[in-house]
Amino acid sequence: MAMDRRDFVIGGSVLGATLLAAVGSRTAAQKSQPNGPAELKLSSQDGVIPGAALAQKVAKMAAWGMQGLEVGGGGLPGRVAEIKRALEGTPIKVSAICAGYASCLLADAAEERRKCVASMKEILTAAGELGSTGLIVVPAFNGQSNLSNREARPILVDLLREVGDHAQRCGTRLLLEPLNRGEAFFLRQLADAASICRDVNNPGVGMMGDFYHMYIEETSDLGAFLSAGQYLHHVHLASRRRVLPGQDDRSFVGGFRGLQMIGYRDFCSFECGVEGDREVEIPKALAFLRNQWREAEAMT
Ligand code: MG
Repeated sequence: MAMDRRDFVIGGSVLGATLLAAVGSRTAAQKSQPNGPAELKLSSQDGVIPGAALAQKVAKMAAWGMQGLEVGGGGLPGRVAEIKRALEGTPIKVSAICAGYASCLLADAAEERRKCVASMKEILTAAGELGSTGLIVVPAFNGQSNLSNREARPILVDLLREVGDHAQRCGTRLLLEPLNRGEAFFLRQLADAASICRDVNNPGVGMMGDFYHMYIEETSDLGAFLSAGQYLHHVHLASRRRVLPGQDDRSFVGGFRGLQMIGYRDFCSFECGVEGDREVEIPKALAFLRNQWREAEAMT
C-alpha cells in the first residue's frame, strides 16, 4: 500500500519514535570513540602568533602549551625545508594547510577546474611531506562560479575522488570548509560537507568546521559536529566577531561537547584577529578554551 501525505501525518508519532531510536543508536556508536578519548589539541595559523621569524613563533607556541601550526598553502612546495627546520626539536606539528591553490574547483570553465586540481596536487604533495592533517579547500567562493548547486555537486564529487586519490598517496587529505553565506553560498553547513564526503567515499577527502561561520549558519554546534562525525579532521577557532575566543560572548561548550562525543583528536586552530596585546591575549584565550573544554566534559 502506497502512503500519502495524510498517512504520514497520522502515523507521525510512530515514525517519530522510530527516528528517535535511529538517532539514539547512532549517537551511542559515535560515543564509543574507536580512536580513544577526544583531545583538545590547540593550534594557530602562523599569522596570529607574534614573532619575526617562524622559529620564534613556534618557540612561543610551545611555551604556551600549543601543539599545532597551520600555514598557508601558497608556495608551500618551496617552504617544506624551512618549516621542517622551524619545528625540529619542538613539540609543535603541522596541523592543516590553509588554501593557497590556483583558480576554483567549481569554475565555469573545465580548463580552470583542471588548473585548480593540478595546483592542489602540488600543495598536497608538500602537505604530505610535512605530515599535515590536510589542505583546506573552499569549493567556490561567491562570484567564482555560475554553476547551479545541481550542476556543481556531481562535478565536485568527481574531482574530489581524483584529488582524494592523490592526497591518500601522499598520506594526507583534502578538507572541505563550509563558510557563511556572505562568503560562499555553495557549501555552508557541516552536515552538507559530511554528505559530500560520504558520497565521495575516499579517505583522502574529509572536512572541517569553523566556529565563526558555524555561529551564522548552524542551529546547533553540537549537532553540526555530530553530523560531521568521522569526516571531521580540523576545526577553526574564532569568536562571534572573528577575534580570539573569549573576547566576546561566543560559547564553545556545546561545540566542544560534540567534539568529545565523536572522539575528535585532530587540531583546533586559531583563524581570527586579536584585540589588544597578542602576548597577553593569546594565553588568555588558550586558558578560556581549556576551561570551556572542561565545562563540556561536565555536561551530561
Ligand atoms: Mg576558517
